[in-house]
This record gives sequence, structure tokens and C-alpha cells, in this order.
Amino acid sequence: MNNAKIIIIGAGLSGLMIAYLLQKKGFEVIILEAHTRIGGRIETVIGTTGATMELGATWFSKPHQHLIALLAELDISYFRQHTQGISFFETMSFVPPQKFEISDAEEPSYRIVGGTATLIEKLVAEVGIQNIKTQTKVTAIKEVNNHLEVTDSDGIIYEGAKVISTLPPHLLVQTVTFEPLLPDSIQQLARKTHTWMGESIKFAVEYTRPFWRENNYSGTLFSQASIIQEMYDHSTADNKGYALKGFLNGGTNTLSEEERKAKVILQLTKLFGDDAANYVAYHEKVWRNEPLTFFPYEHLLMGHENNGHPDYKKPLLNDKLYISGSETASENPGYMEGAVVAAKNIASQF
Ligand SMILES: Cc1cc2nc3c(=O)[nH]c(=O)nc-3n(C[C@H](O)[C@H](O)[C@H](O)COP(=O)(O)OP(=O)(O)OC[C@H]3O[C@@H](n4cnc5c(N)ncnc54)[C@H](O)[C@@H]3O)c2cc1C
Repeated sequence: MNNAKIIIIGAGLSGLMIAYLLQKKGFEVIILEAHTRIGGRIETVIGTTGATMELGATWFSKPHQHLIALLAELDISYFRQHTQGISFFETMSFVPPQKFEISDAEEPSYRIVGGTATLIEKLVAEVGIQNIKTQTKVTAIKEVNNHLEVTDSDGIIYEGAKVISTLPPHLLVQTVTFEPLLPDSIQQLARKTHTWMGESIKFAVEYTRPFWRENNYSGTLFSQASIIQEMYDHSTADNKGYALKGFLNGGTNTLSEEERKAKVILQLTKLFGDDAANYVAYHEKVWRNEPLTFFPYEHLLMGHENNGHPDYKKPLLNDKLYISGSETASENPGYMEGAVVAAKNIASQF
């Protein structure tokens, strides 16, 4: 048994996966997580009707082989995203939406049975909840002799031979202080590394029946004209819980939740008729308002900018600090697949 204490910062998919892999190699790990909730950018809300609604990560596809292998290893089932029926494409607010059908030949997307949080729950069970310390916000990392001192917002110090950060790199350099300072090149790189979906607004509307399917609509919408920009059927795999879910125009973060909700229901009613107004519940998450995910950029960054940069592969502070997390992955960075790939890369170095 190798007893070197390894501190992992962040209990999202990357942090949990790193802990899972390192424990398998016999290392003792502790995960420090700032939030009360475990999962980071994976968050499933279970509605009163049993609908499982993703306010964070949802889909993956066949090229995401590392994630798919992990699901098999943890005995987690997945199912194909429903797309059958008529879909909508809105180009302008004053023109009726175009109707089209998604070809069966298109590369399908998949969702996890029971919701994406099932993956988090299974990893937590493997890693052991006693090894995850929530409500522990790391604020400083200091090199002292042959170890690192990690300080949280209550001033508590944790000592680790190695520290692995899984915070989005931009968030890391903006919210954690380092002594000695990280090399300027890494600081500049991290400041210009986009956090995938950090600016997004997700919504879900829960219903007692899938009225859109009854009228041969798929529930899919792409719009350049209204508050909902992208939407899909979000019913459960066993077709017992029903919802429509998607992304709202990011600019509507300035509205109140009530204002966004009213606009969403109005748009759905225009598309599907009065049935859309008889919803059970409206859920949403403005990720831009999540300080443990998003920190405003100094300059405009394009989606995925500097994601997977090779410099993230080099350990820092005399090989004691590793910068990981989905955005650092060499394959599919920013996605769940990237989180798994980044974790495997770290584990291979121990
Ligand atoms: C709205 C949305 C939709 C998405 N859709 C998809 C999708 O359909 N498919 C897909 O593959 N991917 C999707 N993603 C991306 C996917 O969620 C991420 O790639 C993945 O979850 C990232 O995992 P991570 O562990 O690297 O980072 P995170 O999940 O961001 O984990 C970082 C953790 O660090 C914690 N933390 C932050 N600061 C501190 C601190 N100072 N001290 C301690 N802990 C701290 C956070 O609370 C968090 O738990 C989506 C993301 C969002 C937000």
C-alpha cells in the first residue's frame, strides 16, 4: 500500500474519476469540494412525476469511448435520445417555424438511465463518501519543503505530497492564490482557457404527458429567434416521466427567473398549443451565476479556446501540483469524455 497523501480539489466527474483510479492503484486520497453538492457541472433534478432533468451534462455519443467504457465498468445503462417526429427550426420571429425530420442515419446521442447524476452517485460509492470533504473551498496552495499546503476558506490547512486541481483552469488561477507564483505562461494560458458551458442557461419543463409526441412532434427545436435556442424531448428511458429541456439565450441572464419562465411557456404554447401551458414544474440553472464554475473573462474567449493545451500535461511546483479537469484533456476537452480522459492521464503518472 502506497500511503502518500494525495489531495484532489473538486468533486466533479474529473475529481471523482481521479480518486477512483488512484485508489485502485493503492493511493490514499482526499477530495476537497467547495459546494454542498457533489457533481460539479453534472446536476440532475428529479421532478415530482419522476422525470429526470439535466441542468448540466446530458449527452454523449459513440466516439466518447472512455466514458462508455466507464459506464460499462460501473454497470450503468444508457439509452438513445428521442428524436422521432417533426422538429422545428425558427429563423425569424415573424416567420412561422420550418418543420423537418431528423434522419435516422444521423449519429445518435445517448443519455444515462436515471439521469447523469447516476454516474456521480456510483463513483461516490466507489470512492467512499468519507474521502470527500464538501463545503471546503480551497483558497491557497503553498509549497513548503517537500509537500504542498492547501488552505481552505476557514483557514484550515491540508498537507499533501501531491495536489491535483480539477477546477476549470480559468477559475483556478482567478480564485486560488499560489506561493510561489505559478509560471507566468501557465497563468496567461489558464486566463485564456474557456470553461465549457460556463455561460449557458439550462431549462426544463416537466409535464404529466408527452403531448408533443401524441401530435407526432419530436420535441426538438432549434431557434435563432426566441428565448429557447435549442430543445429536446427529455422523457425518461422507461417513458414514465416527461419533460422538454434545453438551452436558453445566454443574454436572458439579465431577466428574473419568472420573466424567463413566462417567455419559455409562451414559446412552447405557440409551438405546441395550450397543452404546453399545463406544466407540472419549471426548472432552470444560470451557470454564469455559479461562482464555483464560472468567473468572468478579461477578454472574449471562443468556445473551447485553449482546451486540451499540451502545457497542462506538465506538473508544476516541482512535480507536486497537477492541473487537470475536463478542459485539460487531450481528447474531447470540455465534455464528460474529456473529464474521464484527463483523469486517466493523471492516474497514468502515478
Ligand atoms: C449546462 C451544461 C451542459 C453540458 N452538457 C454536456 C453534455 O451534454 N455532454 C457532455 O459530455 N458534457 C456536457 N457538459 C460538460 C460537462 O458537464 C463537463 O465536461 C464535466 O462535468 C466537467 O467535469 P470536471 O470535474 O472536469 O469539472 P467540474 O464539474 O466543473 O468540477 C469542478 C468542481 O470543483 C469545485 N470547485 C470549484 N472551485 C473550488 C474550490 N476553490 N475549492 C474546492 N472545490 C472547488 C466545483 O464545485 C466542482 O464540483 C455540460 C456542462 C454544462 C454546465
